[in-house]
Amino acid sequence: MTQERPILTLENVSMSWPRPGGGTVEALTKTGLEVRAGDCCVVRGPSGSGKTTLLLIAGGLLQPSTGSRSIHGTVGFIFQTLELLPYLDIRENVRLGLPADGARERVEELLERLGLADRARHRPWQLSTGECQRVATARALASSPGLLVADEPTGNLDEENARIVHEALAHHASEGGAVLVATHGSVQALGMTRSLELLAGALTEQEVAT
Ligand code: ADP
Ligand code: MG
Repeated sequence: MTQERPILTLENVSMSWPRPGGGTVEALTKTGLEVRAGDCCVVRGPSGSGKTTLLLIAGGLLQPSTGSRSIHGTVGFIFQTLELLPYLDIRENVRLGLPADGARERVEELLERLGLADRARHRPWQLSTGECQRVATARALASSPGLLVADEPTGNLDEENARIVHEALAHHASEGGAVLVATHGSVQALGMTRSLELLAGALTEQEVAT
């Protein structure tokens, strides 16, 4: 596995945001990171430490101020704000962006895995926060992305919902995907294989006890 080329490589990546009124905020400083197939990485750090900035850059949604990013494969994203479409039902939200034919089984499998099978015809506004979070997880996984990026996907979740989401992420990595998930919770995050920490824009990695 380690011989394979990384799915994601960040080299010397920095991000400076303009500070209103002048100057800059250094949200990320000289960050290097390689993420490979099978890696399930948790990124921890206090609010404002640069987690969202790192994830947006990793996912290709934000261009860093300096440094380079390369990716082999596709990216799936679970947004902190979920971004479910209110006028589509749950099944349609999960199917969004998939080819019209052939994806049926995958969608039903994910609805099942995330405990949503009996909510498939509901609209997002008819579900609880935890259920919506699971829909966003299913949708991000539907296309089997090479890299799944998740920004605090269990932030507002009770233990049971958090467990279901973490299990789905770990399962994705076990199937050969890669996962980058930000949290400000404890490292209790199930099935994580790598532990990264951000403090004021500086990224470090800790050993994960196995
Ligand atoms: P986290 O996700 O860990 O809470 P963020 O990546 O959102 O941290 O933010 C890191 C730092 O960058 C914070 O100090 C924040 O205020 C600043 N920042 C984030 N986005 C912007 C932006 N669009 N404009 C200016 N500053 C920003
Ligand atoms: Mg954030």
